[in-house]
Amino acid sequence: MSDHSLISPSMLNRMFQCPGSVLASVGYPDTSSPAAAHGTMLHNIAEEVLRIGFTDASSLESDDWQMVQDYVAYVKDIKHGPGAHLYVEHDVSLRQYVTDMRGSIDALVVSDNAIHCIDLKTGAHPVSAENNSQLLAYALGATDEFDGWAKEIYVHIWQPGNISTTRVTEDELTQFSEKLMASSTVALEAGAPRNPSDDACRFCKAAPECPALYGQQLAVVGGDFTDLTAPEKLTDEQIATVVLNRARIEKWMKGVWTYALDRHNRNEPLTGVKVVEGRAMRKFTTAGKAALVEYLGDDAYEQKVIGVTAADKLLGKELVDAMTVKVGSPTLAGLDDPRPAATNVIDDFDHLN
Ligand code: SF4
Repeated sequence: MSDHSLISPSMLNRMFQCPGSVLASVGYPDTSSPAAAHGTMLHNIAEEVLRIGFTDASSLESDDWQMVQDYVAYVKDIKHGPGAHLYVEHDVSLRQYVTDMRGSIDALVVSDNAIHCIDLKTGAHPVSAENNSQLLAYALGATDEFDGWAKEIYVHIWQPGNISTTRVTEDELTQFSEKLMASSTVALEAGAPRNPSDDACRFCKAAPECPALYGQQLAVVGGDFTDLTAPEKLTDEQIATVVLNRARIEKWMKGVWTYALDRHNRNEPLTGVKVVEGRAMRKFTTAGKAALVEYLGDDAYEQKVIGVTAADKLLGKELVDAMTVKVGSPTLAGLDDPRPAATNVIDDFDHLN
């Protein structure tokens, strides 16, 4: 039997919002996106540099290596003061709050008078250390282990372009521990409530099969459609509801689609659905490419201007910015969106013709 809890620090934000997500996620295979795999690789390299002071960075992009160096410098800068000691990828126990729960802190600095829990994030979406459940769990485990209740406790998020730090008081940690115990008890009971929201459902493994999320998506577009006394045309309000929920519904549908295709790939086909050949595109074979060059010579090639990102790398962003104009497509947004309303979209884009 595994000694790992069903609950880990990284899932607490979702569990607090949707207690039912803990049991709902059990049994789904672990899938890793290219971005997640890249993040794991960067964590491993940062760990090695922190532990032994160097690594083989020859396969790293220069931006990634710079990121690792900046993170390492940040951690080393914190490791000062009397008795300061650095722990890397340090396991902390939260068993006294939730059975078998534990967590692993990317970097932990413990000195005579302070504890610093530092979490490396490699994603582009900025994450705050304020009221961050994952960091509070780390801080709780580290405080228990290092007898830190009389020390100053700090939690840090380090990610490229975003460093977020906050001090956590003893009261906050105590309140968090009570919330953790109460919420995990509810979450581990069969039939725990499911509360769909963009934040909670974003990375939930149960999302493609979750009835609560399904109901929420259908309610957005389906609410009045079966009302035979409704007007013959949609009202502006109904259209606005569809427009403003488009991204969320499309994302959910894409997730269900990917899950269904994956089921077929795993030989667990869905009832009522079959896999067929998708739209096929013609592609040159290796031998075909060689034959093409033989027939056409230089005419087999076309010259294209490189993209902006590639030019940035060759010439620097400042120089490339002077050669570019920002082009966005007109889009729709809610009235609470901070961007000013475009006065005349067609006029704004005339200069591109
Ligand atoms: S998909 Fe959303 S509502 Fe359903 S269990 Fe997961 S977090 Fe909860």
